[in-house]
Amino acid sequence: MNPLSTDRVVILGAGLGALYAAISLAPRPVLVISPEPLGLGASSAWAQGGVAAAMNPEDSAESHAADTARAGAGTVDPSVARSVTAEARDHILGLTALGTPFDRTGAGSYVLSREAAHSFARVVRVKGDQAGAEIMARLIATVAELPSVQVLEGVMAVGLSTEDGAVTGVFVQPSDAAGGAPVLIRAPACLLAGGGSAGLYAITTNPPRIRGQVIGMAARAGAVIADPEFVQFHPTAIDVGEDPAPLASEALRGEGAVLVNRLGERFMTAEHPDAELAPRDIVARAVFAQTKAGLRPMLDTRAALGDRVETLFPAVAEACRRNGIDPVARPIPVAAAAHYHMGGIRTDDRGRASLGRLWVCGEAGSTGLHGANRLASNGLLEAMVYGRRAASDIAEVLGPAPDTLPELVVDFETGGEPADDAAVAALRQVMTDKVGVIRNAAGLTSALRAIAKLERDHGTDESFRNMTATATLIAAGALLRQESRGAHCRDDFPRPLAEATRTMLTLQAALALRDKTEQEPQ
Ligand SMILES: Cc1cc2nc3c(=O)[nH]c(=O)nc-3n(C[C@H](O)[C@H](O)[C@H](O)COP(=O)(O)OP(=O)(O)OC[C@H]3O[C@@H](n4cnc5c(N)ncnc54)[C@H](O)[C@@H]3O)c2cc1C
Repeated sequence: MNPLSTDRVVILGAGLGALYAAISLAPRPVLVISPEPLGLGASSAWAQGGVAAAMNPEDSAESHAADTARAGAGTVDPSVARSVTAEARDHILGLTALGTPFDRTGAGSYVLSREAAHSFARVVRVKGDQAGAEIMARLIATVAELPSVQVLEGVMAVGLSTEDGAVTGVFVQPSDAAGGAPVLIRAPACLLAGGGSAGLYAITTNPPRIRGQVIGMAARAGAVIADPEFVQFHPTAIDVGEDPAPLASEALRGEGAVLVNRLGERFMTAEHPDAELAPRDIVARAVFAQTKAGLRPMLDTRAALGDRVETLFPAVAEACRRNGIDPVARPIPVAAAAHYHMGGIRTDDRGRASLGRLWVCGEAGSTGLHGANRLASNGLLEAMVYGRRAASDIAEVLGPAPDTLPELVVDFETGGEPADDAAVAALRQVMTDKVGVIRNAAGLTSALRAIAKLERDHGTDESFRNMTATATLIAAGALLRQESRGAHCRDDFPRPLAEATRTMLTLQAALALRDKTEQEPQ
């Protein structure tokens, strides 16, 4: 099919970053590519804890930035942490103006939750654990009122077209299992807001669409990827065999819930002075060790919350009940699960990637905010800050916008390659088994070989190629980083190096490393 052209800004994804940018760009016409109906398929709508922001007059953005840097284990860019935390308050006030029903105290101030590694209670929340769903509902309602936003539902991106180091368009195809022949849409600017990669793991809290595809397609187009090895594992995914695993928010531990094992021992007190509120990587490794030792870690909310768990954490209570667990009466079984990708497409302070005409916001990007370990509830904040910054930079680069533009009509023809579910499942298992909570050279080398084989056997599907590209980058970055830092833990290099550095990797370099591992004797 001949390429289509639009003067709209094309936004890949429909989570918080994407919709925030679409609203910020208004009245400039945009085209939002949404694989699912709006509101579904994005991590944003699943966020439970809320948004970190220094809203208490006794708290400060400087303290928030310092906690962000401390959690990030040496690789947070301090200027990024300072500027993002300084903007946080303004975004909360903006969401409030849009009608987000943040929880309030009797005196009318924001209810602020305490989460791990924050020195202050500073996470604004909605209806207990409904922050993501409620914020997204307000943004979707706002977008529906904006004539400038065209949403193409049931369509996903599978590749980027480039010329002379700049992105010129996006290849899209239907997102249902049957697929369809890819169509190229040429556009003046492209904003990647396709979320993270944690769904590339077999044990994950992320929605099924969030499998590093957008990071992979940027890497295949030549964009520099930063810190791909830094993947955060959440310590308290509810371990009931559901895929994805439902989350038991960290805010439960903020309310006093404790971690115990099947022997009734509270194991975090021996691990860290902050016990259950230690940085997320430390708690995740402790939970993982208990699971490996057959000690069945569990989150006990009974003494701290009693039956308030039902009203304060309705999503958690519902996930327990549909799996036959009464959280008021017994502890909740938990496991460490891939949750958040700190790494991603290298993104500067205006939201620009390393290729021309390409911008990034949200979890797909790596801005330098999270370092080796994201501070809880900084994810939604980053998506908003960079969604708005990218929007304003795009507007500046493109100059005056046309008042209105016709909607783009895309008719797909049959063709393309349907996704191979078995190959995706095999890839996800490799990531959990060999590139998971604890890593080493032998496991990472065998992971790279396994990914290469899967790609050779099933690589005609473009969306699968995007996943294997990101998986290759994560495993290669992890093999190259011969130290343990934050969420990246190597049992063959258990200590951090004296100098903290960020990884900057192209797919080409990662593939060269992968080829080398294949040539080594096994
Ligand atoms: C269970 C859970 C709880 C969380 N709780 C919190 C919390 O309390 N606070 C916090 O700050 N963070 C939290 N996070 C992290 C946070 O939700 C994410 O980092 C954030 O929502 C990312 O926003 P985003 O817009 O970048 O991506 P998403 O919201 O994930 O949106 C990505 C979009 O891209 C689309 N997409 C994917 N592939 C393609 C493709 N090939 N083509 C086109 N579109 C594509 C998806 O369908 C989706 O619409 C949580 C995450 C999870 C999973």
